[in-house]
Amino acid sequence: MPDRPVVTRIAPSPTGMMHIGTARTALFNWLYARHTGGKFLIRVEDTDRERSTAEAVQVIFDGMKWLGLEPDEEPVFQFARADRHREVVQTMLERGAAYRDFMTPEELEAEREAARAEGRVVRSPWRDSSPNDAPDRPFAVRLKAPQTGETVVDDQVKGRVVFQNEHLDDLILLRTDGNPTYNLAVVVDDHDMGVTHVIRGDDHLNNAARQTHIYQAMDWEVPVWAHLPMIHGPDGKKLSKRHGAQAVSEFDDMGYLPEAMRNYLAKLGWGHGDDEIFSDEQAIGWFDIKDVVSAPARLDWDKLNHVNNHYIRQAEVDRLAALVEGVHAGRGLKVRAALRPVLARTIPLVRDGAKTLLELADATVFVLRERPLELPEKQQGLLTDESRGRLARLRDRLADQAAWEVPALEALIRGFAESEGVGIGKFGPALRAVLSGGSPAPDLAGALVALGKDESLARLNDALPNAA
Ligand code: GLU
Repeated sequence: MPDRPVVTRIAPSPTGMMHIGTARTALFNWLYARHTGGKFLIRVEDTDRERSTAEAVQVIFDGMKWLGLEPDEEPVFQFARADRHREVVQTMLERGAAYRDFMTPEELEAEREAARAEGRVVRSPWRDSSPNDAPDRPFAVRLKAPQTGETVVDDQVKGRVVFQNEHLDDLILLRTDGNPTYNLAVVVDDHDMGVTHVIRGDDHLNNAARQTHIYQAMDWEVPVWAHLPMIHGPDGKKLSKRHGAQAVSEFDDMGYLPEAMRNYLAKLGWGHGDDEIFSDEQAIGWFDIKDVVSAPARLDWDKLNHVNNHYIRQAEVDRLAALVEGVHAGRGLKVRAALRPVLARTIPLVRDGAKTLLELADATVFVLRERPLELPEKQQGLLTDESRGRLARLRDRLADQAAWEVPALEALIRGFAESEGVGIGKFGPALRAVLSGGSPAPDLAGALVALGKDESLARLNDALPNAA
């Protein structure tokens, strides 16, 4: 292990979305850096010039920001470092650790076929040629990788993974157009950024062996490897669109809180006993990359919903109110300034049942509706002459009620039912319909408190124009 302060990094390629697997990788890097008092960095692997638009890069930054995983230094952009990558290749050439490969495309194709037929990897005849033989034509630069023996990737998650060198061809470092290849760029950047721990998806495990050769060619210290298992859908298959969501922004749009995502994602592949809920501080205190399990993790929506509900119940009401207002705005419902306090008052009364911010928003629609409310047909039947008379009597009691709080109003409603000699079921549904206009609403007393006294009485009056 490098004898330096820990430096981790996330190295996303901008594709237009930020995959939830990238979010989890970022989280584990962040947790490990925080746990060890080290640094967490970000490198944007933007060498694919077509996909790496400014917008695609912004998606990554937005995703990281939303998740609360901000890096400790300014982002590094890989494409801008191409000269440095070429410089390192030059050094390798000078050291005899790399060579110019002048195979033409036709020769390479023929060698590929021969290699396939003989069950071996591609070998270039230029590996051992003298520089004096160099023809005047375009060349690629290849690493002079060891051809015998083995390369060990001592992975913190996967264990000791052994690669036979005879199965690894001489990696191309620079293409014939002079552009650095992916594996080269990753190693040079990780080295220059001082990365001590490479924590990333296990689709890069094979690259670790090849990258090890580049480190060795430069006499650079090989970082600690940790390759994380994929996140699968609930059915155990690779996470895809049909599982509901893949992109971080989709989880945001579906009303998950970032702290819930951090907590839940930490549980995908890592955990602290059976603890379902833990704070960032606890996770930072407990997290060790060695404890990540190597089997794929499965996304479990019920568990995520459970965790999200926990954080919705814990969150500051003002923050939830602003988020819920955003959800309403997204649906075309503008919350008037006068209704903001009403929204904030409603949230504590309805949030216990909300698994997402969307559900929380649904549960607050009833207070935002403008009078007079039109009852859905189904509920108009609740307003019989009998129930209207009863609601009118209840309205008078409510009008006299000073303490507008849940326990007092519950007592009032119970007392009223007694005095009428009926169960609450005889008038409760009608009252609820009148107060909510058929939208979801909490218990009667909760709905009354959320609406406030004036609005509650006004809604009752609207529904009972002629009731004495
Ligand atoms: N850019 C790579 C990816 O998005 C990550 C490479 C790495 O972490 O080394 O999969």
